[in-house]
Amino acid sequence: MQLVLRLSENDLIRLHNHAERSLPFEAAALLFGRVQDNEVVVSHIEIVYNIAESRTSFSIDPEAEYKLLVEAEEREEDLVGIFHSHPAPPKPSSRDLQNMRLNPVVWLISSKLTGSWVSRAYILDDNLEEVDLILT
Ligand SMILES: [Zn+2]
Repeated sequence: MQLVLRLSENDLIRLHNHAERSLPFEAAALLFGRVQDNEVVVSHIEIVYNIAESRTSFSIDPEAEYKLLVEAEEREEDLVGIFHSHPAPPKPSSRDLQNMRLNPVVWLISSKLTGSWVSRAYILDDNLEEVDLILT
């Protein structure tokens, strides 16, 4: 079944601004919300710091992530997606694919290779599938 990621245009702009400010490093954020049938609905985003301070990878402080997960649980939201930005095209790297296996949520990747930010969403099931991004 084709998955759909619903995200507000405002939140996507916040993510792109965060990616812009984080250059030349990759930027990261966590997407919270609910999964309803084939729809992943994002209701809250949390900008996080890329502790790797790397141009080609990102990592999130486990303590910071834990705190955000607890807060999300209090709001009755789940972690439904992981955002990061890329110096390369917005496609998962081999390192991303390994991490997608460990974190089987939607992965939203943005890149500015062509001058403006472009975002694509993916999920790794048995295969890598592209997820339709719908702005609300
Ligand atoms: Zn990546």
